[in-house]
Amino acid sequence: MSRSAHPAGPRHADVLPEGHYSAPATDLNVLDEKVWSRTVTRDADGALTVGGIEVARLAQEFGTPAYFLDEADFRARCRAWSDAFGADADVFYAGKAFLSRAVVRWLTEEGLNLDVCSGGELTTALDAGMPAERIAFHGNNKTVAEIERAVEAGVGRIVLDSFQEIVRVAHIAQRLGTRQRVQIRVTVGVEAHTHEFIATAHEDQKFGIALAGGQAAEAVRRALTLDGLELVGIHSHIGSQIFDMAGFEVSARRVVQLLAEIRDEHGVELPEIDLGGGLGIAYTSDDDPREPHEIAKALGDIVTRECESAGLRTPRISVEPGRAIVGPTAFTLYEVGTIKPLEGLRTYVSVDGGMSDNIRTALYDAEYSVALVSRTSDAEPMLVRVVGKHCESGDIVVKDAFLPSDLAPGDLIAVPATGAYCRSMASNYNHALRPPVVAVRDGEARVIVRRETEEDLLRLDVG
Ligand SMILES: *Cc1c(COP(=O)(O)O)cnc(C)c1O
Repeated sequence: MSRSAHPAGPRHADVLPEGHYSAPATDLNVLDEKVWSRTVTRDADGALTVGGIEVARLAQEFGTPAYFLDEADFRARCRAWSDAFGADADVFYAGKAFLSRAVVRWLTEEGLNLDVCSGGELTTALDAGMPAERIAFHGNNKTVAEIERAVEAGVGRIVLDSFQEIVRVAHIAQRLGTRQRVQIRVTVGVEAHTHEFIATAHEDQKFGIALAGGQAAEAVRRALTLDGLELVGIHSHIGSQIFDMAGFEVSARRVVQLLAEIRDEHGVELPEIDLGGGLGIAYTSDDDPREPHEIAKALGDIVTRECESAGLRTPRISVEPGRAIVGPTAFTLYEVGTIKPLEGLRTYVSVDGGMSDNIRTALYDAEYSVALVSRTSDAEPMLVRVVGKHCESGDIVVKDAFLPSDLAPGDLIAVPATGAYCRSMASNYNHALRPPVVAVRDGEARVIVRRETEEDLLRLDVG
């Protein structure tokens, strides 16, 4: 895609850094189905609809900014993952991507398991009826109180993250008169992000226990001697927004190697391996994510092959997609406010939300798409930066995008693929009221997380 490919071109293309901005490859009115949830279309008047409901009606009823979650798409993605992995593997949805009681019920109904990494997530899961044995508890610093609750509730597994935690969980389980099923999280020396992975040592981080230097083997040695623990497997998680399966290949190979060492030393074949989450989604038209069945096949093949060559029985595989399930299922709807053309640079389009409802751009330099959704337009494209209303110049929602040049205050624009790590990372910065999450399905919309109110703010501020 080159800038010059578009005859209209961005307004000030000549002063932009070469190769940095791509002119829109297609008509701005055409929604790229890759980045929008499945039931999103434009109706005859050009307005975007989701689950059969037009955005103007949604904005009127629920206000903006708001997240609209396509329930049919969410459920379809759950089924695609569980069908792809089949009965011999387990899919754990990573609750930190977005968790609410409605989501827990959908997961329960669709047969998925759930990862939690805090007492709050555990409470939400249990309250909404997820069976405890289908919950895995993660985290690098679980408190004693959290571990006690998890063990008492009977969670299916706790993923041990440090030498101290091995002892702590064993002690708590023993005190409560039980044996806790656990996995040990190892760091395999692979870090994967987006299109690349780095197969160098990446031990300089807070998660897991390094395979390097025999530390993971030592952790296994200790876990196997403690009565409170039933060690069932090894866990690894290598990164986020990953497209390249090569990182998983290296990680699976190293984990299987450890399983073989464990068999040789202790005479036990651990029955499970968990390869974590991190599978990428399309935030822009440039991203090409894999389908769950391709991922399942690739991971299954790698593990089977490695186990065969190590003479091991193939363990039960589990995976933990968060973003890949919920990310594509929601968009954020904003109302356009101030529009500020900066001569020779770009046009700043301010919306009624910002870094309080989507911190990812500021935090990770994440890329997003955006579209005018309350109408279509034949005006020429203009290069924009979509910014929020917060007191930070880094308060950017979409760094570089094109919108029609007749954009006006009061128009509705939507940012797709905001289902993961947006509401769950939302903040009250500038005393913003965190937006609602509205589930839309078959012509019906219902609030699953309501909008915060000023009373909510004042209630916490006890004076
Ligand atoms: C964050 C995380 C996941 C989910 O990551 P996604 O990128 O949302 O798929 C899975 N497992 C672990 C251990 C994680 O920390």
